[in-house]
Amino acid sequence: GVSDVVAVSSGRDALLIALSAECIGRGDAVFVPAFTFSATAEAVTSCGATPVFVDIDPDTFNMDIDRLEEAVHAVERGSDLRARAVIAVDIFGLPADYRKIGEIADAQGLFLLADAAQSFGSALDGRRAGDHAPVTAFSFYPTKPLGAMGDGGALVSTDEERAERFRQIRINGRGQTGLQESELAMTARLDTIQAAVLLCKLEIFDEELERRRELANLYSGMLSNSVSVQAIPEGFQSAFALYTVRCRDRERVIKALSDAGIGYGIYYSAPLHLHPAFHKYGFGEGDLPVSELLCSEVLSLPMHPYLADEDVEKVCEAVRSA
Ligand SMILES: *Cc1c(COP(=O)(O)O)cnc(C)c1O
Repeated sequence: GVSDVVAVSSGRDALLIALSAECIGRGDAVFVPAFTFSATAEAVTSCGATPVFVDIDPDTFNMDIDRLEEAVHAVERGSDLRARAVIAVDIFGLPADYRKIGEIADAQGLFLLADAAQSFGSALDGRRAGDHAPVTAFSFYPTKPLGAMGDGGALVSTDEERAERFRQIRINGRGQTGLQESELAMTARLDTIQAAVLLCKLEIFDEELERRRELANLYSGMLSNSVSVQAIPEGFQSAFALYTVRCRDRERVIKALSDAGIGYGIYYSAPLHLHPAFHKYGFGEGDLPVSELLCSEVLSLPMHPYLADEDVEKVCEAVRSA
């Protein structure tokens, strides 16, 4: 549903290119959820800006809008930083609440960047990922909904001028003249072989997405009495990059899965503000309680389009027995 797509080398590079193209850097505050993959915040620190971590909603696991507003006001009143941008993450494939984040970004003059690394194919109010923000970053890392066989990513923009800047930064700052026009420069091309793989996988993408949704429904139907499942509000469609539940006694559930020979993952074991690399931004334990609690409870169950219904039943049996 958008006009411009610029293929790049990874999801992280996509985020970094998008922030660089806005000339975001030293002295700028960029709001990011604390419960996400570290690349979201790394892109901010890589361009010299300051990440401001925001807590999440305990049901959708996405950025809490009230906490975002508070954080913007706190930066404006109580710091030397300029509030410049917000990165909304579509965690596990579920779109962030762009209806409200877009309003806040407009009202506060913030650049809204969508980190849709996990949500290729998701939708909100009938519009697909890529169409909720002026710029959206995707990742094609093998574990994402549309995965290559190595690294890859893309930037989607509703604005031609921005897309042209992304193309320049992607190839050493080179413009159409062949001269280096921009000091903002990276080597961030999408590898040709990955592009070929993606073209093939794109052909079956809708079927794969449909199957992920079927499996997620099956999981939710069988599990909602024993664990908390990620809430999908009205109008939202997840791409189910991951199927993640909250369990009060995670160790016990892990043991039951392991005993049954079933794999699992923990995304994420620590919120970003408690990673050593981000200590210096001034957040500590207890500052973002929902993100911290979720990190002690989340458990991702097997999810890919080639699971059989019986596989899901077996996983659910193990979870319920615990
Ligand atoms: C995977 C991921 C990224 C980074 O993508 P890469 O292609 O691995 O660089 C960024 N943000 C989120 C939320 C991700 O899940």
